Amino acid sequence: MAGVLDHVSIQCTDLVASAAFYDVVLEPLGGQRIMDFGNAIGYGVPPRPDFWIGAQATGDGFRESHIAFTAPSRAAVRAFFDVAVAEGATVLHAPRLWPEYHETYFGAFVRDPDGNNIEAVCHLPGLPVSKTPRASGRCLCGAVSFQVFGDLRNVINCHCHRCRRFTGHHMAATAASAADLVIEDADSDLRWFYPVPEAGYAFCQRCGSSLFWRSRLTPDRISVCAGTLDPPTGLETVAAWWTDEASDYHVRPALPESGTE
Ligand SMILES: [Zn+2]
Ligand SMILES: [Zn+2]
Repeated sequence: MAGVLDHVSIQCTDLVASAAFYDVVLEPLGGQRIMDFGNAIGYGVPPRPDFWIGAQATGDGFRESHIAFTAPSRAAVRAFFDVAVAEGATVLHAPRLWPEYHETYFGAFVRDPDGNNIEAVCHLPGLPVSKTPRASGRCLCGAVSFQVFGDLRNVINCHCHRCRRFTGHHMAATAASAADLVIEDADSDLRWFYPVPEAGYAFCQRCGSSLFWRSRLTPDRISVCAGTLDPPTGLETVAAWWTDEASDYHVRPALPESGTE
């Protein structure tokens, strides 16, 4: 038996605000809206909802609940935390190990719009011990390092105005499956900045290194600034995107260009 719980439901003061919050924070954990009855919304990993929110219908006053969601990886715990912070959630505990629970208990805690204590937790070991990484990399100061345990896409230069400013030139981006990326960030120095709600950029808050990019439209993929990889990478630069937004000083190499993506 996996557990005694089949599903749980909480009552929210402002269902619209709570739905917006849970839409965003459950996405990195693989959760989504599965049922929506207007006054009650069911979330889960398809096909079955196991977490419900509804408009407050009974009872007075508020007593916080604690709800812990399963995260498939430590990277997912961090992504949950980062999108929650970007949503303006109150931080209870940044992502870290909780050895008082058990050796590989990795969790992060925030408050939802009502004030409930919401956690994402991963129980798996941080680094796969039996596999050799495809690639490794780090920021300039070394506070944030990472390993990729799967395929890396060839490099695409993104010249869009956001990548131009984030990197100071253009983003030479490779990409990996989010599940293959293991980030080591012992002091929680990785910060996510969302210039628009659907896409975020990650950097080291100590040294400023540009590291990652991700879109909420493709939560299973993560772009990696190729210059942060330890060479040799075995990668090639294969295309340039958003070249219409490149600055006028930019020397254009002979690459297939696209005005968008
Ligand atoms: Zn750094
Ligand atoms: Zn871009």
